[in-house]
Amino acid sequence: MNNLRLTVDRDALVRNWQALDRLSGSARAGAAIKADGYGLGASRSLQALQAAGCQDFFVAHWEEAAGLAGDAGQSSLSVLHGIGPADMELANSLAAVPVLNTADQVARWKALGGGTCHVMFDTGMNRLGLAMADIGNGLLDGLDIDICMSHLASADEDSAQNTLQLARFLDIRQGVKARRYSLANSAGIMLGSDYHFDLTRPGLALYGGVPRADMQPHIETVASLEARLMQLRTVPAGDSIGYGATFVARRDMRVGVVSLGYADGFQRSLSGQGVSLRHGDADLPLLGRISMDLVCIDLGNAPHLAEGDWVTLPLDLLALEAASGIAQYEQLTHLGQRFERVWR
Ligand SMILES: *Cc1c(COP(=O)(O)O)cnc(C)c1O
Repeated sequence: MNNLRLTVDRDALVRNWQALDRLSGSARAGAAIKADGYGLGASRSLQALQAAGCQDFFVAHWEEAAGLAGDAGQSSLSVLHGIGPADMELANSLAAVPVLNTADQVARWKALGGGTCHVMFDTGMNRLGLAMADIGNGLLDGLDIDICMSHLASADEDSAQNTLQLARFLDIRQGVKARRYSLANSAGIMLGSDYHFDLTRPGLALYGGVPRADMQPHIETVASLEARLMQLRTVPAGDSIGYGATFVARRDMRVGVVSLGYADGFQRSLSGQGVSLRHGDADLPLLGRISMDLVCIDLGNAPHLAEGDWVTLPLDLLALEAASGIAQYEQLTHLGQRFERVWR
């Protein structure tokens, strides 16, 4: 696309991982790169983080692992969804390692010859994972388990559920033999060293998300949306802008029409929330509703801009969440397909 770019700051991604690795204390930080690296690019995220020393990567589906097989090299690439009945062929042909979640998945893995695997236990989220009752009942006998893990449901809050899940995970660690144990996602890293075990599994925070306020000083913005001005116009006082005429100019205004809309993941509910695009240091407030392919901005702070010039939205996910209520995770995973993805 000539008029729409998603730029990713590789060094900022790496610094975020390094910060999370440091915050993980004696544990190592891995990286969740599912959903195409939360929309920013799984392959390039893997390559950048691998070069920085990250050794453990997580995707949800085998198809995602297949797309990364050429990049993974000596790193461990894990498939969180385990092995469903439809996954046998891919699981058999790839070096990626399944995270086994059910007795049937354990049986499928054994049918494929076993080999190193991971296991997920459910400690109260009631999503994927084996039950506490599966500890010591023989189900896992004969498996070569690298990572034994569980997943926190409420780590972004100081919730009693965290303590409960930790207590259950400690019981799991007593009863399940594995080389490594892993509990914390991004937010869980901030819950302290009790939650770190051998490996943490951050996703969101790598890409600039801030799931807990106490993480904010450690995390940088990684991605920006950039779009060109398609048209400039002077809107006279009293005229309205955009669908529904939700904005009415109180004075004559210099207005830019930008080639970015909700089809690109710049969600409509960001309209009217005080969000601005930028050009250099200039703040360029949105005017009226975001439409599918376009949005209007106030050029009062950058009157020199011309048709074809670029304007930017840094993906400060926490600020955008505060403005719109759209979860940081969704802001990333809803990014559209029309961006040229540029890594710098
Ligand atoms: C997605 C995911 C993560 C990463 O979570 P974030 O909240 O993005 O840090 C870690 N572990 C599991 C099992 C996941 O599904």
